[in-house]
Amino acid sequence: MATLAQLSLLCGPMSLSRVSAVNRACKFAGVRRTTGLQQLLQQVGVVEMPPRPSQQATPRHMKSTQTRCRSYSTSVVTSRLQIELVPCLVDNYAYLLHDANAKVTAVVDPSAAGPVIDALNAKGLSLNFILNTHHHWDHTGGNAELKRKYNAKVVGPRADEERIPEIDISLRDGQTWKLGEHVMQVLDTPGHTRGHVTFYFPDSGAVFTGDTLFSLGCGRLFEGTAEQMWHSLSKICQLPDETLVYCGHEYTLSNAKFAISLEPKNEALLSHYEKVAQLRRKGLPTIPTTLGEEKKINPFLRPSSAELRKALNLSSSATDVETFAAVRCAKDRF
Ligand SMILES: [Zn+2]
Repeated sequence: MATLAQLSLLCGPMSLSRVSAVNRACKFAGVRRTTGLQQLLQQVGVVEMPPRPSQQATPRHMKSTQTRCRSYSTSVVTSRLQIELVPCLVDNYAYLLHDANAKVTAVVDPSAAGPVIDALNAKGLSLNFILNTHHHWDHTGGNAELKRKYNAKVVGPRADEERIPEIDISLRDGQTWKLGEHVMQVLDTPGHTRGHVTFYFPDSGAVFTGDTLFSLGCGRLFEGTAEQMWHSLSKICQLPDETLVYCGHEYTLSNAKFAISLEPKNEALLSHYEKVAQLRRKGLPTIPTTLGEEKKINPFLRPSSAELRKALNLSSSATDVETFAAVRCAKDRF
């Protein structure tokens, strides 16, 4: 069985020396609704999206040179908050949020201004707010141009306000803010970066997780520890299982391959993989997913899985944080 010292050697600078048990574990029991991805997309009203054959074939090194992308085409309406997925760069997603009653519109994590402007023009909308989950350029690259063009306000994490371009309103953990008639709750979710936040809209059952939680994955630990990231993921996991998860990247297919390498007998995962592969073959997004589904298939949320622990050569006495750290380490080398 791998010891903490062995994991520390494998993982290098992952700060495993600071790893300790975290009491707030994900609650895997009590999934209230099991919704397949395809079924979910039908339920929430996904419309057609043109094939994006060049997207997956585009080398990652070209990412920084591509500033415009295909137009949006996935539309989800939850309650009165309309959520529009906007593909950007190679595999980023920005999201338009529109309150039709209050006539207020926001964008989450605009990597580039062009695709967002195109999406707003197509809907005949202006822009009031820019919401940033964290400071990385592929989540804030459109801030300056969008703010200038629409006189929009930039909203971001208090803990990282000095690194959010053009920030106007900084919000701290636990604070609420309103987008039109919709309350937004702010959760500090450090780990990927030290000032990462997650935006949760309870009345729409939607959470915007940036680069903290992906479908079948989680963000790399650039500025935080495994313990911080596990704590952040555990916070998100406490939201209702039916919560729709909108993350910052389309990494689902490659994440699924890694997940299967750890849990090849996980039936829910194998079934989900087929759906994801089919969607990607058609150039369709795999987002949103749900928290309930992720708890059954995302290896970063499954430290209690005996199959996963065995694949990582971890003993049953390894803590949830130790198991999470081992999964993150294995993914970094996958
Ligand atoms: Zn990032």
